[in-house]
Amino acid sequence: MEKTDREPYALLGDEAVALGGLHAGISAAYGYPGTPSTEIMAFLIAEHERGGPPARWCANEKTALEAGLGVSFAGKRALVTMKHVGLNVAADPFVNAALTGTGGGLVIAAADDPGMHSSQNEQDSRFYAAFALVPCLEPRSQEEAYRMTREAFDLSERFGMPVLLRLTTRLCHARAGVTPEAARERNRTSEVRDKTRWSLIPAFARRGYRRLIDRQPELLEWSATHKANAIEWGEDPSFVVLTSGVAGNYYEENKADLAAAPTRIHIGAYPLPPDLLRKACEGAGRVLVLEEGQPFIEERLRGILPVPLSVSGRLTGAVSRDGELDPDTVRAALGLAPRKNILSDGGITLPDLPPRPPQLCQGCPHRDSYETILLAGAGLAPLSINADIGCYSLGALPPYEAVDSIVCMGASVGMARGAADAGIPYALGIIGDSTFLHSGMTGLIDAAASDTPMTLIILDNSSVAMTGCQDPVLPSESLRALLVGLGVPPEHILELEAKKQRIEENARLLRREIMHPGLSVAVFRRECLEAARKRRKKQGHAGETARETEEKDA
Ligand code: SF4
Repeated sequence: MEKTDREPYALLGDEAVALGGLHAGISAAYGYPGTPSTEIMAFLIAEHERGGPPARWCANEKTALEAGLGVSFAGKRALVTMKHVGLNVAADPFVNAALTGTGGGLVIAAADDPGMHSSQNEQDSRFYAAFALVPCLEPRSQEEAYRMTREAFDLSERFGMPVLLRLTTRLCHARAGVTPEAARERNRTSEVRDKTRWSLIPAFARRGYRRLIDRQPELLEWSATHKANAIEWGEDPSFVVLTSGVAGNYYEENKADLAAAPTRIHIGAYPLPPDLLRKACEGAGRVLVLEEGQPFIEERLRGILPVPLSVSGRLTGAVSRDGELDPDTVRAALGLAPRKNILSDGGITLPDLPPRPPQLCQGCPHRDSYETILLAGAGLAPLSINADIGCYSLGALPPYEAVDSIVCMGASVGMARGAADAGIPYALGIIGDSTFLHSGMTGLIDAAASDTPMTLIILDNSSVAMTGCQDPVLPSESLRALLVGLGVPPEHILELEAKKQRIEENARLLRREIMHPGLSVAVFRRECLEAARKRRKKQGHAGETARETEEKDA
């Protein structure tokens, strides 16, 4: 994207972050797909194809962050993207990068998913920034997402540490105008610092940790004067509303209806500035905290403000302890009557619609795989089926209800191994090809080392389908050699075509491997229909439905 002439773009929050990174002069970007962060890298990859800096999907978030750190140590700027749970995977290099420090600016954009629209938890990435003792910026608009991304790179170089950019779903996936500034020169080399900092042997690591601690007062000075942390004095000094991130917008939508404007303080830059918070709350009787995610600020306020001051928020029930905020929940927390709307005022009653739980696409290869697995396991007991993160997680729901556990990326492999060690005779793991490459391989090495009596089923649809059909880091053809290299006995690697016509034959072969008293792996192959449709569209077959693609590919 060449245009930097202050003409606004209508961008998703994710795209604003990507553009901010490009205009900050990044030399590379790395990430692993995950809702709601995926569109950052999608934008950067499209730019790369037009001559922009390298932008690559990685095997997982840890390898992405390590690649970013390598760029940083070479004195250049790198953006690394992931969803919130991906930061768990990348936590090791993230926390340690705070001790090594950085060379060129290193910014990690972590997108949280409050309300769990497409995630297994709603953890709040601000805790990671506080844990690692590094700065965090939390934009509340697409414009701020663009500016804060640019600023984060300057900040990373100023303090010599990684900076976390915390995003949330509604910001990532809503579109608004962004006015870009002139782009910084790409590939500019920042001053490379003392290299002894970058090797975390204990003697250097102790010095690095001390240095990190010593810089904390500077970070506090920075956040105390940051323009995203601002007090807006109100008419009612007894009541303070504290907002952060997109919750600030929900407050803005409602504040005109309050009888007297409370004092309001918004936080967009962390670490929390204690003096500023005390100043805003001086003379107040109560404080209401409106923050998206977990009660990060609310918990800390109790150690910052005087004890008699009443603090309410998610911990007290003034705001729901879980789920996303929205203008109506914020309105209720402010004590305002529900806003009139077309339903309440127009006498409209919504019809009782039948529930529509998510389902695998019609014709999805996973449907045939699950039917095969259920047939193969029929009558075998006890049978433990541990699945993983991907479209195939839907095998937990009707009509299959085939799954006993889904925990986190890659867990299916280790959990099947544990089940086998616990004496369950028929222990299965079910994992997608991309999730296997992400974090299933290491668990399989453990199982191969002890020839654990379990069967791992890899559903290879040649796609990271759930996040929009990105290409896996390795093609399907590499899988067999990889499995053999990891130590799986070649005679117990079963390669099957996931097709309706083959269900009975496949089930018979799979059952034999499930009964085998050692490790076996079954690979079910057929391309995701959506991925196939996209591939054929690229090849000039636009307008085809998924079903038509399936028929033509067959
Ligand atoms: S997107 Fe692909 S893998 Fe996912 S449910 Fe649809 S066909 Fe199956």
